Amino acid sequence: MSTPADQLADEHQDSVERAAALLAQSHYCIALTGAGISAESGIPTFRGKDGLWTKHGEPPLNQYEEFSADPAEWWQNVAERRRNPDELTATIANAQPNDAHYAMAELERIGILKHIITQNVDGLHRVAGAQSLTEIHGCTTLLRCINCNTRSPFDEIPEIFPPRCDKCGGIVKTDTVMFGEPIPPDCLQRCYEESSKADCVILVGTTAVVSPAADFAFAIGQRGHPMIEVNLDPTIISQYCAVAIHDKAGELMSRITAEVKSVLADDSA
Ligand code: NAD
Ligand code: ZN
Repeated sequence: MSTPADQLADEHQDSVERAAALLAQSHYCIALTGAGISAESGIPTFRGKDGLWTKHGEPPLNQYEEFSADPAEWWQNVAERRRNPDELTATIANAQPNDAHYAMAELERIGILKHIITQNVDGLHRVAGAQSLTEIHGCTTLLRCINCNTRSPFDEIPEIFPPRCDKCGGIVKTDTVMFGEPIPPDCLQRCYEESSKADCVILVGTTAVVSPAADFAFAIGQRGHPMIEVNLDPTIISQYCAVAIHDKAGELMSRITAEVKSVLADDSA
């Protein structure tokens, strides 16, 4: 009797093998990940079928304006939210990496994946062991100077609002990038450098509609290199992908990574 897991294995086997072959052939593969990769860690997505924004609408777009107008008051609100975290903040704080984060760290360890650009702010790629990583929208566990981009751990609420940078005296905020806030230039530079070198890109758990993160992935496809999609639902980029597989990232990334290792073992035999 076949189990649901057997049926999943059968349904995607051909695509998993094609994705693995592309990854194994690549010389410089990078990844773009989004909220979907952390869904199996219990963190809700924003868009997509059960996304928070799909259900409740998008948040206000002037967050950075409010911060710039009065950083001290903004920090008061951060301190208040830290004392009484909303559901999303509490969920992110307690989340652990899932199979997809670990599979991608393993793909990096075996030399296939050279860099991950994540749009997520949960830090789970880092916890899973990813080394070459750009968190393009920042990370909830870090602080960042808006002047020199120096980052430091966000362990405790600072004593003075707004806190100042030890290096340059600039105003320090949380590292997460707010609506209206420019992406930190060091992140943009790194994304540009990594995507310029890439000859393959794998997109995992992202609707790929947020600029500029999605543009870095598109640019690789536009240069004629393969794009691979692993996402629960089809997206606007599915049609441009050499392989697009639609199911949960945890199971699929584990299988793709195992298949890549098997291809590499066969090649070296
Ligand atoms: P998104 O919310 O726009 O889209 C998520 C995609 O993931 C959807 O297409 C959905 O079908 C897919 N998905 C859902 N569950 C999945 C699963 N188990 N396996 C594979 N795919 C799954 O995400 P986005 O494109 O990353 O953009 C949203 C923005 O919101 C980003 O900028 C991100 O910073 C932020 N965000 C971050 C987190 C986080 O840090 N974990 C969570 C929510 C939103
Ligand atoms: Zn500074």
